[in-house]
Amino acid sequence: GPPFPNNSLVKPPYAGPTSVTSLSPVEVYRQQHEVTASGDNVPAPFMTFEDTGFPPEILREIHAAGFTSPTPIQAQTWPIALQSRDIVAIAKTGSGKTLGYLMPAFILLRQRCNHSQNGPTVLVLAPTRELATQIQDEVLKFGRASRVSCTCLYGGAPKGLQLKELDRGADIVVATPGRLNDILEMKKIDFRQVSLLVLDEADRMLDMGFEPQIRKIVDQIPPHRQTLMYTATWPKEVRKIASDLLVNPVQVNIGNVDELAANKSITQYVEVVPQMEKQRRLEQILRSQERGSKIIVFCSTKRLCDQIARSIGRTFGAAAIHGDKSQGERDWVLNQFRSGKSPVLVATDVAARGLDIKDIRVVVNYDFPTGVEDYVHRIGRTGRAGATGMSYTFFSEQDWKYAADLIKVLEGANQQVPPEVREIALRGGAGFGKDRNPMNRFDSGGPVNGGTGRWDSGGRDGMR
Ligand code: ADP
Ligand code: MG
Repeated sequence: GPPFPNNSLVKPPYAGPTSVTSLSPVEVYRQQHEVTASGDNVPAPFMTFEDTGFPPEILREIHAAGFTSPTPIQAQTWPIALQSRDIVAIAKTGSGKTLGYLMPAFILLRQRCNHSQNGPTVLVLAPTRELATQIQDEVLKFGRASRVSCTCLYGGAPKGLQLKELDRGADIVVATPGRLNDILEMKKIDFRQVSLLVLDEADRMLDMGFEPQIRKIVDQIPPHRQTLMYTATWPKEVRKIASDLLVNPVQVNIGNVDELAANKSITQYVEVVPQMEKQRRLEQILRSQERGSKIIVFCSTKRLCDQIARSIGRTFGAAAIHGDKSQGERDWVLNQFRSGKSPVLVATDVAARGLDIKDIRVVVNYDFPTGVEDYVHRIGRTGRAGATGMSYTFFSEQDWKYAADLIKVLEGANQQVPPEVREIALRGGAGFGKDRNPMNRFDSGGPVNGGTGRWDSGGRDGMR
């Protein structure tokens, strides 16, 4: 069906038993969209844009963007956020979280006619520069009607310009925790006016080691603020920071987060490919795609990224992005990719986190990531906003630890599980014994690829 069905047209299917037909429209909506919300007196979702009561200028911009109805996360979190309550929202990527918090922020700013003379009213924390600038783009696009000003603060660029912009006054500051904390320590930002704090991709920020900076920042924000936290996963660390920073939050889940659910509109191919064969197989896959299709190839190390981009670059139009590239290079590469000039992006996990690049057709996992959560996150780069996508994953004997979890994800999304992967899951580490030196782990698959394999921890993309 359409990506975000126009709910006013969706009728509950013929259900038979009266117990089902007696569900209220709200219950039907929540059931159909896999929304659960827990907390005191949770308001009904806004099933249509008209339900939101947003000012007509805002609705016009939404219609101009071609959106037909709120995404489930927007539908359920907007009415809660507009009651000034704290929210922890758990939803996978591509679910429309950004406007989920920006709309309530715009409404808040419109209510304060004289906003942000002495520092921002809204603070959004996000894990990476790319994500932060994408959020700023959404603010500029959808906040125009509300005359919202926005400054973006991130590392890897000189502070001077960012500070100058900040001085001019910004209603919304979007920042990565590292840079914001630096600016805070320089006493160049005043948080006393902040009344809405957003933590976007909280799980990623914690993964990247930003917890101390986040806590220092939040310590400076008045406690009577409203806090909205978004996360794709719900591990212990995230639960802890949520319980420390939020007050009596409503928890909203979209889809089932207990199982790692992959987007069902992605066709997932998994193949067991020995290390030595990977490049040849990659080239085959690239050749089989429609010309100009956007493709992301994930590998585990920066050096491998560069090496692959170099060797396939001319033939397929590929460029690498990772944490060692200067900010200028990263911008350039992303622009080449977005514009389709180099349709193949070779990336590490860290560099690719949070990127919302439209119309990615294919994700290739050249190396299996360190964990199935990352796998789901990676393939979530495609199939966004209802488009269909494909993923190819090279699995090898040394990834045996992830075989069982991977099978669960594949089965959960009604995908084929290759018998070789089942065999690896059954064998476990046998034939790939713990008694062996980990540095020799490639000997089952041939040469160590010039020392750029996944055990080359020195080359891994670090945190920024
Ligand atoms: P997330 O942060 O959950 O990964 P985003 O906020 O980046 O998701 O949104 C993913 C894509 O969906 C973006 O391109 C965004 O413009 C689009 N989008 C947001 N809201 C809607 C909507 N109501 N209908 C259709 N598309 C939407
Ligand atoms: Mg997002």
